Formats: sequence, C-alpha cells, structure tokens
Amino acid sequence: MIVVMRKGATQEQVMHMVQRVEQLGLKSHVIVGTERTVIAAIGDKRDEHRSSLERGPGVAEVVPILAPYKVASLEVKPERTVIRVGPLVVGNAHLGVIAGPCAVEDEEQTIATARAVKAAGATALRGGAFKPRTSPYSFQGLKEEGLRILAAAREATGLPVVTEVMSGSDVPLVARWADVLQIGARNMQNYRLLEEAGAAGKPVLLKRGASATIDELLLAAEYILNAGNQNVMLCERGIRTFETHTRYTLPLATVPYLREKTHLPVVVDPSHGTGHAHLVPRMAAAAVAAGADGLILEVHPDPENALSDGYQTLNFQQFSETMALCRRVAEAVGKVIASL
Ligand code: PEP
Ligand code: MN
Repeated sequence: MIVVMRKGATQEQVMHMVQRVEQLGLKSHVIVGTERTVIAAIGDKRDEHRSSLERGPGVAEVVPILAPYKVASLEVKPERTVIRVGPLVVGNAHLGVIAGPCAVEDEEQTIATARAVKAAGATALRGGAFKPRTSPYSFQGLKEEGLRILAAAREATGLPVVTEVMSGSDVPLVARWADVLQIGARNMQNYRLLEEAGAAGKPVLLKRGASATIDELLLAAEYILNAGNQNVMLCERGIRTFETHTRYTLPLATVPYLREKTHLPVVVDPSHGTGHAHLVPRMAAAAVAAGADGLILEVHPDPENALSDGYQTLNFQQFSETMALCRRVAEAVGKVIASL
C-alpha cells in the first residue's frame, strides 16, 4: 500500500505514520517528493490495514500498489530517479554513456581506451576485471589487478568506473575500487549478491538476464532498493530467442515500457544485444530515440585482438562516429550527454 500524505503534512505526522506502518509488521519506505511525501508500506499481507491507516494524522489517502514490484514502481515514486556519479548523469534529460573494453587486459589498453572514449564524449569507463565467461577455459579477467588498472584509468581521465561484481563475497573488494557496481545478466537472480551490492553504498547497474521477464528484472531491482540503495540503473542487454542472426535479440520496446512502470533509469547495451560491431551504431541511436537514459558500449583499441567479445566491440573511430550519431538523435529527443 502507499500512504499518501497531505500536502504540507508535518515531519511529525510522517514519522507517526512510519511507526504505525511498522507496528503493523510492514516495512516502510519514505519517499519525499517535491509535491508531497508518500510512505510505501510493504509486506506480503493484503490490504487489511488500509482503512486504519487512512484515519492517520496528515494522511490524504491509502492506495494499493498494483505492481508486483513496489519500491521500483512509478506508482510509489512518480518522480524519476537521476543517478549522478561525477560526469556520469543518467536519467531525465541526461543521457549517460558508459564505454570501454569488455575486459581489462592491461594498463596500456585500458588507459588508451579511457582517453579515447572520453575524447569522444563518454561520461564513464566500463571494463570487466571479473569476467563471467561461458567457458571456464576462456580468459576470466585480471581480477584485483584489473580493478587497480581501472582506478589508474580513472585517475588519468576523471571518468568514473563501472565494473562487474560476480559474487557477494567480492562486493567489498569491488566496491572499494569501483564507482558503479555492475551486476551481469547471468547473476540477475543471484539474490544474495543483489542484497550485498545494495548494501555497499555504490550505484548499481543491473543487467537483464537473457531469459528474464521485465517483471523479474524489476523484482531483482527491488532487492537492491530494499537493501537501502535507491541508485539503481536497469539495463536491457538482449534476450535469448530463436533468432540466430544476432547474438541476442535486443527488444527496444523495453525502454518505453519501463518508463511507464518505473522511475529507475534505463540503460541499453547494443554491444551484447546484437553481438556484431556493425549493428551497434544504429541500435545505439535507436535506443536513444526510444528514450534510453544511458548506453553501455564495448570499445577497444584493436577489437580484432581483444581477449573477449571483440566481434561486438567498436574501435575508437567507430565509437566516435557512434557518438556523433547518438548526439544528433539525443538532441532531437531532448536529451543531453553531459561531458567533463
Ligand atoms: C559485460 O558487460 O561484459 C557482460 C558480461 O554483460 P552481460 O552480463 O550482459 O552478458
Ligand atoms: Mn562483453
């Protein structure tokens, strides 16, 4: 249920209602809006306490939350969440661009990429230090050494670092070095990891599982939000279908659909979504046209010799052309790419 407070309700009245909600065995989330404050009362109990809450001081109305996800829903928080990490601004009129190699391979490759993507207008650096690979015989990432290299690239460019964390026990280590924790498609339903990442105090980029529904994605986000972290970006990165021409199928309808359901910003990953570098620029532009709040793109100095995902990775020239195209579309749909 959502307890909607009257305009001008006092802090005391809000606190009173929070206590009431908790006495009923429900969890409370206070969301302070510019217009008014609402208290989300969350639990698996039905709406049996609705009328008693409605009689509380300063309460305008109590309405049921229809969506299965609660804190993530637009019903609970009609104001859009904007995530800011230095130059990376994701949400509302801001388009964040997170670019970099699939995997951190060495310092030279990572810093050269960070400089190139920054020059072309990216607002954050991506790069995997812990890599979830389909085969255990493939390159698994440089792990802690990779995190150190990412920090050096941040130092050199000022770009915040987005990097994947694969297990709950790695969260403290990765959170020490990263600016944004990425949770990969394969881990979208690793609920302990979601809780740990939620408690780490850093923004989270949550990728959709290749076989997950949008409701499952939103419920996964709910775990992070419930751990007290409101800075969650959702990422459409393509789903598994019968189609074999692309690595995954990238459903861009996800973007306007999610905008109708959640206040959380939506990032699109056309690199994994298509699996082919030549398809990435147009799909990136299409994602922006669809209303995406951010893009995450794989870029490497020499994609042909990349240790992972080279076939879907842009070189510096291609990335800069993609940025020019996306900037034109962004302008047409009223978005700006903040830059340093
Ligand atoms: C990645 O971003 O490099 C990655 C492994 O993505 P996903 O989890 O979407 O497969
Ligand atoms: Mn990759």
